[in-house]
Amino acid sequence: MNDCIFCKIDRGEIPSQKLYEDEEIFVIKDISPKAKCHYLFIPKRHYKLLGEMTDEDQAILARTFAKIAALAPKLGLDGGYRVVINQGEDGGQTVPHLHIHVLGGEKLPI
Ligand code: 5GP
Ligand code: ZN
Repeated sequence: MNDCIFCKIDRGEIPSQKLYEDEEIFVIKDISPKAKCHYLFIPKRHYKLLGEMTDEDQAILARTFAKIAALAPKLGLDGGYRVVINQGEDGGQTVPHLHIHVLGGEKLPI
C-alpha cells in the first residue's frame, strides 16, 4: 500500500466519483478545475514519469488516448479539448502518479 492520492482514490480510500473505469484506467473530475470541464484520465498502475513506462504501460497509454476520444462526446467535449501531461517539478506535476488532464467545455485560452 502506498500514500499516493490517486492510488487511494482507486482503492476507494478517498471518495471520488469514477466517471469511467475499466481494468486499466479510471476517470475522475479534477478537484480544482482549470476549465469548465476538467477530467483526469489515470492509469491504475502507479508510476510517475513517461520515462518509467514499461512496454505494457505504453500500450495502456496508447489505448487511453483512444478512450479519451471515445468518451469525449459523453463528457461534454464535443467542441474539442486539450490534453496535458505534466512531468516533474518544472512541468508542474504535483501528484507523482502519471495522469492525463483533459480540458474543454469552452474555448480555452492559448
Ligand atoms: P498535476 O499538477 O500533478 O499535473 O495534477 C494533479 C491534479 O490532481 C491537480 O489538477 C489537482 O487539482 C488534482 N487533484 C489533487 N488531489 C485530488 C483529489 O483528491 N481529487 C481529485 N479529483 N483531484 C485531485
Ligand atoms: Zn499512485
